[in-house]
Amino acid sequence: MIETLATQHPNADTELVYRNAFELLAATILSAQSTDVRVNMVTPGLFKRYPDARALAKATPAKLEPQIVSTGFFRQKSKALIGMAQQLVAEHGGDVPADMDLLTKLPGVGRKTANVVLGHALGVPGLPVDRHVLRVSNRIGIAEGDDPEKVEAQLTAALPKEMWTLASDVLILHGRRICKPKPLCDQCSVREDCDYYKLAVGPAEARPHDGRDRPSGRPRKHDARKVRAPRR
Ligand code: SF4
Repeated sequence: MIETLATQHPNADTELVYRNAFELLAATILSAQSTDVRVNMVTPGLFKRYPDARALAKATPAKLEPQIVSTGFFRQKSKALIGMAQQLVAEHGGDVPADMDLLTKLPGVGRKTANVVLGHALGVPGLPVDRHVLRVSNRIGIAEGDDPEKVEAQLTAALPKEMWTLASDVLILHGRRICKPKPLCDQCSVREDCDYYKLAVGPAEARPHDGRDRPSGRPRKHDARKVRAPRR
C-alpha cells in the first residue's frame, strides 16, 4: 500500500527547503503549528543571517523574534532555536548529531522533529508521525491509535527500514492532498484495501452488516481493524 501511494505521489519528500541538517532542524522547529510554505518564506532570510549553529547561538530573542513572527508561537520558537544552537555548539561541536537520543535532548526537538532530520538529512532511517500519518494510517488500517510514538512503533515494525522515511512522506502528502479530514476517496489509489472506505464509503452491498456501517462517512476514533505488526 505504501508503494501504491508512492506511485500516486511520486517524488514525495519533505516540502521544507533546506541545504543541510542544521537548516532542516531549524526549519522543522519553525514548522510546528505552521505550514511548510510559510516556513519556506522565512528561512532564506533567517539562514542568511544565521548560516550555522555558531551564528544562531549568538542570536538574541529581540533580533530573532521579528524574523520568525509569521510562523506563530515566535517566542517559544525563538527560545528553542537559540537553545538548540547553543547546545549544538556546547556539546556537538556545532554539528547536528545523527542520533535520536541526542537529538531529542535538544530544546524544541521531539521524536517527530528528530525523525524528520534523521531520515531526510542524516541518512538514518526515521518515520516521523504527524497528524496526517496518524489519520491516514488509522483509516487505511495499517496502524491503530492516537499516540504518535505507538503508531511509529507499529509502522516501523511492519516496514523495512529503507521504507520508513518514504512511508512518512507519502502518508503526509496523501493526508494533505487526498485523505483530508473530509477524504477524497474517489481519487485514492488504495481505496480497495482501505478499512475506512470499506466500512463507511464504499458500495453499500460491500459494507459489513454488523452495525459498523456508517453512512455519514465520518470515522469513529479508530476506523482501522487491528493489524498486528510483526516483531522486529
Ligand atoms: S480510501 Fe478514503 S479514507 Fe481510505 S485512504 Fe483513501 S482517501 Fe483515505
